[in-house]
This record gives sequence, structure tokens and C-alpha cells, in this order.
Amino acid sequence: MTTAVSLRHHTTLQVGGEARQFVSAATCQQALHHAREARLQGLPLLVLGGGSNVLVCDAGFPGMVLRWQDRSLEILHQSSDGVHVKVGGGWVWDDWVAEAVKRDWTGLECLSGIPGQLGAAPIQNIGAYGQEVGQQIVACQVLEWESGVESRIAASECGFGYRDSRFKRDWKGRYLVTAVEFLLHPGQAPQLRYKELRQKMEGRPHTLQEVRATVLAIRRSKSMVWDPADPNHRSAGSFFVNPIVAADRAAQLAHDYPEMPKWPTADHNVKLSAAWLIEQAGFPKGWGQGPAGLSSNHVLALINRGNASAADLIDLAAEVRRGVHRRFAVTLQPEPEFIGFDRSVEELLA
Ligand SMILES: Cc1cc2nc3c(=O)[nH]c(=O)nc-3n(C[C@H](O)[C@H](O)[C@H](O)COP(=O)(O)OP(=O)(O)OC[C@H]3O[C@@H](n4cnc5c(N)ncnc54)[C@H](O)[C@@H]3O)c2cc1C
Repeated sequence: MTTAVSLRHHTTLQVGGEARQFVSAATCQQALHHAREARLQGLPLLVLGGGSNVLVCDAGFPGMVLRWQDRSLEILHQSSDGVHVKVGGGWVWDDWVAEAVKRDWTGLECLSGIPGQLGAAPIQNIGAYGQEVGQQIVACQVLEWESGVESRIAASECGFGYRDSRFKRDWKGRYLVTAVEFLLHPGQAPQLRYKELRQKMEGRPHTLQEVRATVLAIRRSKSMVWDPADPNHRSAGSFFVNPIVAADRAAQLAHDYPEMPKWPTADHNVKLSAAWLIEQAGFPKGWGQGPAGLSSNHVLALINRGNASAADLIDLAAEVRRGVHRRFAVTLQPEPEFIGFDRSVEELLA
């Protein structure tokens, strides 16, 4: 066990203060031991993966941070339907995608290059380039902190939606995701749902390796892979999720701004492009003079230019959010989880 570890070094935004303790566990027994210790000391417990979807406050997190390290892989069943595989939550997500692609198991290739750990993937149902991880998940293996019971939750119970699941809502803080079961499809042709990806793949063989290489190249051009050599790299990816508004509100906006991108959702609402709203509200790529600004490659990524504080990022996020609201009366919601703050997200970004 180490004490007082700076979370700046464990998050991709590279801001934030210290955690009181930082521990790791590779078995449920070890995880429960740490949880008991935390309880005895009266410390809150936080599971941290790659720290790529969190914004840690400058005062830090006054508790114990636990990192899960199970990197197992077990084939549960293989048939003409596909391969049913259970994978430890401690895998680096992109290592697992590379492994699936190497084995010619179709289903995750468009999710190449997303930072973080596998155990975090179901939390916000990671998605990119027309795929969402929830589509391939059969079940999540979990450890319930309170009872110490290990169980299996079917994907149909997880409430997967756009960047959403029950792990973010009513189950928040309740479980450690120890492993995830996937159903993948050996040898099946990849589905290219995303226009830019289809265009870039034209004339090239539609193998999983090619799709993965193309997705990585597109992501790299937008500073959306973790690369310390890229000046835009200190980010949490997209800082705001695409807002979903009622159909009549979308119709009003479309009347005023016919060129506005919009996509209908399954429940008859309309998803708007947060990136488009931000740019139209007067915040172009690279915007901001201070230590925090917008990525010069991707307007949705708020970046730490090197010596930003969490407070700088909050100020920037609040300014962008207010600007979008002023222009379009649409309220952007942040994607990363805010850790250690004593005020709500709404108060912080007001
Ligand atoms: C450059 C960049 C690009 C990105 N691109 C995308 C993208 O295309 N699509 C996308 O969806 N996201 C994207 N993200 C966001 C992020 O990578 C994902 O949300 C990722 O799944 C977070 O994983 P993590 O291990 O870093 O989680 P962390 O940031 O460490 O944690 C996020 C949340 O998950 C919880 N958590 C983590 N591990 C576990 C576990 N084992 N059990 C229970 N809870 C857990 C944490 O407590 C926290 O609440 C991007 C981020 C960056 C920096």
C-alpha cells in the first residue's frame, strides 16, 4: 500500500490533488480486504481504472483509491453463433481489442484506441464509430462492496444507453466490475456504420486489422488516442456528451439552423452534436488563452496545456456551457465523473 498518491499522475487530464491511499487488487478477496480497511479508517473508496473519464478536484480525494488488476481471459463457449468469452476487468481496454482483432473475433474493432480499463467500459457503455460496447456484452461479473457477494448481471439488466448504464446511476459505487462476458463473432465481416470510417475504408480489404488501423488513424488525427507526444493529449476525450432534446425543441432549432446536425433516437427524441453547438457558439478548436483550452484537433476535448488546475478546467467548461446555453438554450452535460468536489456538477458549472 502507498500513501498520499497524487492523482494527477493517474488521470489523463493530469490535474487534481492526492488520494489518501492507493491500492490494487487482483482477486475479490484482496479487494474486500482493502474495502474493510477503508471502512475501518472511515475512508470512502473509489475504483479508478485508467483515469481517462474523471476530473479530480485540486484538493484531491480524501479516501482510498483502488485499481483492479485481473487480466484473465477465459473462453466459456464457442459455437457457430460466436465465441462467448470472459475477460478480466483489469485489462487495458485497447490491449483487449487488439487481442480480439488478432483472434479474428468481430464486434469490438471500431472501439479501438479508447483509453482506460476494460472494467470501466460498461460504466458509460463506451462507444465510437458506430459501435457501443453494450451491444457485445452478455453479462458483467461484479463484486458488491456492501455484501461482499460476487454475482453475474445480464446485459439486459444493465440499462445500457448512449454513454449510460445503471452503473452510473442507481448502482453508482455499489459494484466492482471484476470481469465482462462478451459474445464475439469469429471471421464475420465488420459492420462499418460510421460514414467517415466507410469513406476511409474505400478500396481497402474489410479485415478487422484494417478497420482497427483505420479507426486508430482517424482517432490519432483528432488527438483521441492517448499519446504523450501529442500537445493535445491531456484530456478526458469528449468533455460533453451529445445533448438529447425533445423532438419539438429540435424542430425549432432546425428551423433556425437548417444546417445543424441531428439524429433521431429510438425513443423519439433528437440527439444534437455537442461539437457543432460549441463551435457555432463561438468556441473554435484551440480556443482559450490560458492553461486550459479546447484541443486544436477536437473542439469537444477540453485540455490541460501543461500546468492547468482542476479549477481552470471547471472555469473553461462553465464558460463553454454558458455560451452554448446563451446561443441555443441547450444545456450541455459533462461526460467525465467529477471526483472530490464538495459542490454538485450543476453548481460548479453554473
Ligand atoms: C483521449 C480519450 C479518448 C476517449 N474516447 C472515448 C470514446 O471514443 N468513447 C467513449 O465512450 N469514451 C472515450 N473516452 C473516455 C474514457 O476513455 C472511457 O470512458 C473509459 O471507459 C474510461 O476508462 P477508465 O479505466 O479510464 O475509467 P476511469 O476514468 O478510471 O473511471 C471512470 C468511472 O468508472 C469507474 N470504474 C472504473 N473501473 C471500474 C471497475 N472495474 N468497476 C467499477 N467501476 C469502475 C470509476 O469509479 C469511475 O466512476 C476517451 C478518453 C480519452 C482520454
